[in-house]
Amino acid sequence: MRDVDAVIAGGGPAGCAAAAAMAGLGLSVMLVDAGVDRHKQLAGELLHPSGVEDLRALRFDAVVDHWVSQPVRGFAVRFHAPRHTVLLPYGRGVTGLSLEHASLTVPLLESVASRPGVTLIPKARVTAVEHNDATGVHVRFIHQGTEHTVRARLLVAADGRASPVRRMLGIPERLHRISTMLGVTVDSDSLPHPGYGHLFVGGPMHALAYAIQPGVARVMVDLPLGGNVSTLQARPELLGALPLELRAEVLRALEATPAPRLASNDDRLSGTVRVGSAVLVGDAAACCHPLTASGMASCFRDARALQDALRCHGTDIPLALEAYARARRPAQRTRVALASALYDAFSGQDEGMRALRRGLVRYWEHSPGGARTSMSLLAAEEPRMRVMAREYLRVVGHALTSLASPRQRSMPLRSAAPLLRSAGPPLKTAMESAVEQMGAWWHRCVQRPVYWLAKAGRAVPNRAFASSR
Ligand SMILES: Cc1cc2nc3c(=O)[nH]c(=O)nc-3n(C[C@H](O)[C@H](O)[C@H](O)COP(=O)(O)OP(=O)(O)OC[C@H]3O[C@@H](n4cnc5c(N)ncnc54)[C@H](O)[C@@H]3O)c2cc1C
Repeated sequence: MRDVDAVIAGGGPAGCAAAAAMAGLGLSVMLVDAGVDRHKQLAGELLHPSGVEDLRALRFDAVVDHWVSQPVRGFAVRFHAPRHTVLLPYGRGVTGLSLEHASLTVPLLESVASRPGVTLIPKARVTAVEHNDATGVHVRFIHQGTEHTVRARLLVAADGRASPVRRMLGIPERLHRISTMLGVTVDSDSLPHPGYGHLFVGGPMHALAYAIQPGVARVMVDLPLGGNVSTLQARPELLGALPLELRAEVLRALEATPAPRLASNDDRLSGTVRVGSAVLVGDAAACCHPLTASGMASCFRDARALQDALRCHGTDIPLALEAYARARRPAQRTRVALASALYDAFSGQDEGMRALRRGLVRYWEHSPGGARTSMSLLAAEEPRMRVMAREYLRVVGHALTSLASPRQRSMPLRSAAPLLRSAGPPLKTAMESAVEQMGAWWHRCVQRPVYWLAKAGRAVPNRAFASSR
């Protein structure tokens, strides 16, 4: 049986970032990756500025600088009816980037595998967690037809949203299948706002689009669950939210690519992100509809939060994992709630959601500060749930104002009721979040004075982590 400090299951964005984070602490890492074919996947291609920043902090500078990526200045949100586009640039003049999924992820894995302390076991699959308590884990994996067992102080499950390891750990999840995403590539000249990630909302189906290579753009169309290429070929009017030129490009691409890439869009939230000496990161811990393009930035943030927690709490793995769970939770909660609220607002066809879309346009046009805050929420830079709930209420306020305009007078009550009802879930989550934060504060400050000792720099030095096996 081999011994390492940390076993990481999964070599996607989350696993690579976690491996870099652990290696950065001087830990020995075994990265076990099943090796999904990323050239065939429809997955993350747009990375927000915070994600780029986190990758650089994890010493992936050379990879980032070597990518042939397209700059992304923010989102262009194009509303279907009434036709209107709002540009939401990132703040501080920063840019994100986009590139084809395999071109983004494969170099991350190659880079981390070459770091001192990291051993990549490619085309290998974690098959069982035989032992898991506060002292460490025994993990079984299969590689080239042979079973191996490795003993480690820490197991990081970075094996994606279906996460077999999460199931092996007995961690429950809340799963909601939302829709099916169909992706094709088109000529990027057909995008109306070069340099922006496009959201086409409010039509029969909504869509996302951004350049991924010079001259090439990815378009992703959100279809009903189980939808596929024939759904769009039979009903091209579903592409009604796209500008005419782009619509024609998508239909051409569907003709030319009879089997375009498909992915299911899910909302998944695991019951907990830690048990014993095992922890979940990235999509294994939480994922949501990709309309905010925040999945990968969130993976990298998780890796850094785990690194900070281990740096702070040294040998005490359960305490470190508790600190990690606490540190990441507010941002995750906000990200998932935002994606869910926006999905309803962008795709809902009832009077309330139509009014909410008018409220969004009005809010973003009338309040530059509001537009900036919305963008920082979309880009996963603003983690506070109460800020999201406040922004939602402001949009509802603008929607109600637009309902009171003389043009809308025929149906204000019919629209106002569902509009007000829609504010319920974000407000409820904000309340729960506030209660939870008070509980966490109480736990930290009153029940766990050791937190303050660690904060004052008296935590066991990290070196002890490696030598304690
Ligand atoms: C249609 C779509 C569009 C998206 N667009 C964006 C976007 O524009 N921007 C963005 O930031 N995010 C986007 N996302 C989300 C993003 O793709 C994910 O958040 C990200 O890929 C999650 O990374 P991960 O490492 O957690 O999981 P994954 O990328 O799923 O990687 C998991 C890895 O674990 C391995 N594995 C699985 N089981 C085992 C096992 N038993 N043992 C060992 N290894 C195992 C797999 O081989 C794989 O390599 C999108 C998602 C979808 C579905």
